[in-house]
Amino acid sequence: MKVAFFGECMVELSGEPLRRTFGGDTLNTALYLARLGRNRDISVSYATGLGEDKLSVEMKQAWNDEYIDTSLIETVSGKQPGLYLVETDANGERTFLYWRNDSAATYYFDNVVSKLEVALAANQHDALYLSGISLAILNNSAKERMLTMAKHHHDRGKKVIFDNNFRPQLWNRSDAQKWYEKLLPYVDIALLTEDDDREIWGTEESIESRCERFEIPEVVIKRGCEPCKVIIREDNQINTHFVAASKVANVIDTCAAGDSFAAGYLSARLSGQSCELSAEFAHSVAAIVIQHPGAIVPLGAMDHLL
Ligand code: ADP
Repeated sequence: MKVAFFGECMVELSGEPLRRTFGGDTLNTALYLARLGRNRDISVSYATGLGEDKLSVEMKQAWNDEYIDTSLIETVSGKQPGLYLVETDANGERTFLYWRNDSAATYYFDNVVSKLEVALAANQHDALYLSGISLAILNNSAKERMLTMAKHHHDRGKKVIFDNNFRPQLWNRSDAQKWYEKLLPYVDIALLTEDDDREIWGTEESIESRCERFEIPEVVIKRGCEPCKVIIREDNQINTHFVAASKVANVIDTCAAGDSFAAGYLSARLSGQSCELSAEFAHSVAAIVIQHPGAIVPLGAMDHLL
């Protein structure tokens, strides 16, 4: 099982004194899936744009070290990775400042055809993973390219997997709604965070009825410490399962909770487990991640899950 991701990874500056790491929603999921997938016959490719600068080279090396295939990366000359600064106030509340408008990733679809489009057209990948942020960073013509790519992939009987991560700094709700409405008909597995869904769509229509409207076959609704909800549509029948989250007494940092949950779910589900067992496993992966600071926990902390 080969999974291709498209998204953006940025340089993160955080802590006191400032520490430099790398972060981004799709990259977090790709990295955890690469770790969890190694013993489950799942391989991961990460498609993004990087520059020729030192940070871009370091990022690529770090991903190779995590067994992520980097052959789908486009080198965008004269551009570099985006940057964000995380500031934490006295109450532990975090605020994010971004410098990402002109990052290399936003230029991924600037060539007539991208490496990702070529690879998918050649049937090299079973699944394509995108998030709301993957769409939001692109200009409209690149967004259309991504939609066409997702449609073709879905029409070939492969899986399109979508996480609804919403960043209001990148676009407004009505733009997000417009592009999500275009993409959702091609989505095979939707991993939705309830809070983000509300922020985009409001409360007039339930998530469930929206997913039904777009006939999404498999939907996982992440609800923090509450049980997640898995909705499976098969032969015009809809089955709903609630799966309780792991009990975590001491939450240290919920950064990448949803991203790691997605990786946990997919590592089990794409290797043939039931949706309930996959959700249970996803909760246990996220539970480890939220008991450590930062998005990426040391490999040793998740040894028992590998
Ligand atoms: P996101 O990070 O996308 O906002 P959620 O907040 O819904 O997503 O969290 C994703 C997953 O992380 C949950 O489904 C659960 O497995 C885990 N999680 C988050 N917060 C807690 C918590 N307080 N206790 C236990 N698990 C949690």
